[in-house]
Amino acid sequence: MSENPYAILFEPVQIGPVTAPNRFYQVPHCNGMGYRLPQSLAAMRGVKAEGGWGVVCTEETEIHYTSDLSPSMEGRLWDDGDIPNMARMTEAVHAHGALAGVELVYSGQHARNFNTRAVAFGVDSFSVPEYFPAQTRMADKEDLRTLRRWHRNAAIRAKQAGFDIIYTYAAHRLSLPMFMLLSRYNTRTDEYGGSLQNRVRFLRELLEDTLEAVGDTCAVALRLAVDELLGEDGLTRDGEGKEIVAMLAELPDLWDVNVSDWSNDSGPSRFMKEGYQEQYISFVKGLTSKPVVGVGRYTSPEAMVSAVQQGVMDLIGSARPSIADPFLPEKIRTGQVEDIRECIGCNICASADNVGVPIRCTQNPTMGEEWRRSWHPERIPAAKKAEKAVLVVGGGPAGLECARALGQRGYQVTLTEARRELGGRVQLEADLPGLQEWRRVADWRLTQIEKLPNVEVYPGSEMTAEDVREAGFEDVIVATGARWRRDGVGRSLRSPIPGHAWKEVYTPDDLMAGADREVAGVNREVAGRLPQGRVVVFDDDHYYMGSVLAELLVGAGCEVTLVTPAPQIALWSQYTLEQPHILRRMKQLGVTMLPNTTLAEIEPGAVRLHNTLHAKDTGWMCDGVVLVTNRISNDGLYRDLRGEVGTTFNSLRVIGDAEAPNIIAQAVFSGHLAAQEFEEDVTGDAPNFRRE
Ligand code: ADP
Ligand code: SF4
Repeated sequence: MSENPYAILFEPVQIGPVTAPNRFYQVPHCNGMGYRLPQSLAAMRGVKAEGGWGVVCTEETEIHYTSDLSPSMEGRLWDDGDIPNMARMTEAVHAHGALAGVELVYSGQHARNFNTRAVAFGVDSFSVPEYFPAQTRMADKEDLRTLRRWHRNAAIRAKQAGFDIIYTYAAHRLSLPMFMLLSRYNTRTDEYGGSLQNRVRFLRELLEDTLEAVGDTCAVALRLAVDELLGEDGLTRDGEGKEIVAMLAELPDLWDVNVSDWSNDSGPSRFMKEGYQEQYISFVKGLTSKPVVGVGRYTSPEAMVSAVQQGVMDLIGSARPSIADPFLPEKIRTGQVEDIRECIGCNICASADNVGVPIRCTQNPTMGEEWRRSWHPERIPAAKKAEKAVLVVGGGPAGLECARALGQRGYQVTLTEARRELGGRVQLEADLPGLQEWRRVADWRLTQIEKLPNVEVYPGSEMTAEDVREAGFEDVIVATGARWRRDGVGRSLRSPIPGHAWKEVYTPDDLMAGADREVAGVNREVAGRLPQGRVVVFDDDHYYMGSVLAELLVGAGCEVTLVTPAPQIALWSQYTLEQPHILRRMKQLGVTMLPNTTLAEIEPGAVRLHNTLHAKDTGWMCDGVVLVTNRISNDGLYRDLRGEVGTTFNSLRVIGDAEAPNIIAQAVFSGHLAAQEFEEDVTGDAPNFRRE
């Protein structure tokens, strides 16, 4: 270990009465499994501990049924009946020598209680989230005493379930103790409102209660947002954020500090880079002798070492890097740093929680599948017949992952890619503003493939059906991707936009291609140049592409109008926590944003826009149009060959965008699934995974 330049990361850290075996700390993170899928959840957390995380925490864990976060799937410690489920997780974590932490939460204003139909206590009578027209009841002093009792009892249940670290939660603007701190929410006139001292009172009481109830054997942690990134309108590191830390400095055994809200804490990589929280939290260690954990999407050991050495934090907190690579600590410990599967900061993991389904990850296709499919991020079942040769056509995320995983299983794999560069869409998109980290999807897979002597890669090799037949493989996997439509057909428009053949109409492929890139479906007339002047970007995709291209075009000097039929720009990106950042960026760049608007017609020099709210058409002058609508699978090769299964081929499978266009995470998953299922009979009607 003394030779390891990162040895400092493997030092134990005393946290109150317990000791973390190293500085790798999986902070609480949601996962869409929660109380509903306890076996899946325990297996997922157990894999993190196996991968070397010294502390592994739960997600938000509801302490009482009056703070029910459904339809989100979170942890529950409502009563003793929840203890066995939670104990599954602590056992899975302890089995690998790690500590288990639980984040106790009373959400109050953030709970809609859709399931329980109970009334939540709030600091005041406030609206609950997502425009649902219901309010909390303002907790009176008796209610606050009751709440303290609930929190204390939940802490006792957590201890019984085997947890080593027990949180009080005042972060993300998701919990009553945090609302209590904020003067714009806390308008109380009793001793819990008014001065900061009064607003901190409730949090202090919860900490004292928890210490008294379980502090003999459990560490008591405080998760606090020290800055809301709202400037003077909110809590700031230089203002009350700092004062709160000073007031409670020595009370908790551990400070877990971050920024609020969740879209800032889990900052998307397009807007926030590794270590972005340091500037906000670095003051904390100067005010307390207790250990501090912070986050910042750390994936490089150098940045982690620096954060510790510079006294920013004692423990490297991580949610997303631990999702993308549960074995990150172990890889650093054993000197396999180049094997770290680095998080790309896309927040697809968060989207799963936001839509109430089990967690998934773009980089790690095994995430969330540990129990139900028995997938492991590092291990994979060996090939049944290792001498079997497989051809994978297409080196995008789907093909790369499939070839890598088949290679890991031991098959003889040949991967062909039409273009000179591998990576498919991620290689192209990574050159767009802010998306550099997308490239990691290809880079990690290429690094792994390079180490596999049984995988051969042939870039610059476009294959026709005849080429595939001649190559003589019995088993073929087609991963030929998709291309953007150039006729405007998509979610909103079901027939081509009149005038789409105008020479100044572009697709994202055209803009990404560049002059020297051979990209399927590109209009060679325009490839290598961008539209000029006034450009209308029509976004019927509703994710990141429309706004990213708007940013690219503004950077190239264009005057951009971003048009979308949805009621908001980049609507789906609300689930990946990108949307508020996208709106801010579009505003900063001076992009004109027109929601509730479709493209009715294109003619040289102008478009006709149709506002769907007012049923009104407007002429809009422009020098170019970019259509970000549906995509079309490049499945011609598959279709040409599929009649020959049983004659020319033993098996033929189409995966990724070539099967059906989807997000990058789905392409990676699809490639991994095909590799896992290779030589398996998957023709049954039942799902090929276990259900709880
Ligand atoms: P996915 O997301 O499903 O992996 P991509 O579009 O990112 O899809 O990647 C598909 C890749 O397949 C692209 O790099 C493309 O150049 C390549 N490709 C498409 N058709 C062929 C072909 N006939 N032969 C070899 N490679 C191909
Ligand atoms: Fe990182 Fe994206 Fe995976 Fe989340 S889904 S852990 S942000 S790579």
